[in-house]
Amino acid sequence: MAHPYEGREEMKIGIVGCAGRMGRMLMNAVLDTEGCTLAGGTERPGSALVGQDLGGLLGRSPLGVAVGDEARALFQAADAVIDFTAPAATIAHAALAAELGKVLVVGTTGLSADDEARLRAAAAKTTVIYAPNFSVGVTLLMALTERAATILGDDYDIEIVEMHHRHKVDAPSGTALGLGRSAAKGRAVALDQVWCKSRDGHTGARPKGEIGFATLRGGDVVGDHTVMFAAEGERIELTHKASSRAVFAKGAVRAACWAKGQKPGLYSMREVLGL
Ligand code: NAD
Repeated sequence: MAHPYEGREEMKIGIVGCAGRMGRMLMNAVLDTEGCTLAGGTERPGSALVGQDLGGLLGRSPLGVAVGDEARALFQAADAVIDFTAPAATIAHAALAAELGKVLVVGTTGLSADDEARLRAAAAKTTVIYAPNFSVGVTLLMALTERAATILGDDYDIEIVEMHHRHKVDAPSGTALGLGRSAAKGRAVALDQVWCKSRDGHTGARPKGEIGFATLRGGDVVGDHTVMFAAEGERIELTHKASSRAVFAKGAVRAACWAKGQKPGLYSMREVLGL
């Protein structure tokens, strides 16, 4: 069978935040994907890792390319850049991608509404793929959640429960909020009109139509999400459990390859997978 990228030029992919938990996974995924080459990696200026060989950072043989701290040079050398860093860095990278016309794949979570507006502005000029979760399983879960919410209606209370490792800095997770948006879309409402992101003390009875979130943090959990539809007499639970960050990295590299030749715009992983 022909390889999907056969006959195409190599896709040069750069990784910003290359020494992070996801950055390392992403570099491995690029190196292990046929049709892709690693254009380089950057870390935040001042990081002790700047100058270290990228291969050495991964415990692989030296690649002869060092961790850089100049995002502009990386964007110039790459066709696409994958960014799983932090909101302030991602926004700066989005402006560079727009200026230089490079594909940007964004996995960073915790972006504010203002940050997202800046990402949309960049996407008017170049191809941006933004997803709170790049795994195929969670992308499917989002589609299933939207469908279930439409079919079941608001007699079924929607609660979204997530658990992540102790190092995670934002809550609820970007994926939980993405699942909430899918549920809200299925009910034709805006999530921020119906969400309850945490509960404490005397909250009163649950309002009809609310979409609730519960956040758990601990240990090394890569990412568990459950969407519950609870009615009188029955409950449906849709669950996804990630046991390796490699699934997010593989999905992000797949998105970067899909982006080649796409028109400028803001795309999600659902569009990459055709769901
Ligand atoms: P991490 O803290 O391990 O890694 C982030 C890296 O970015 C760090 O190495 C940091 O030094 C680097 N960085 C920060 N500012 C930078 C800059 N200006 N230039 C270059 N590098 C910079 O965090 P992580 O666990 O890898 O997660 C990163 C982000 O990805 C978080 O927002 C997390 O929620 C998100 N995430 C998304 C998905 C998804 O599928 N969308 C999956 C996992 C994690």
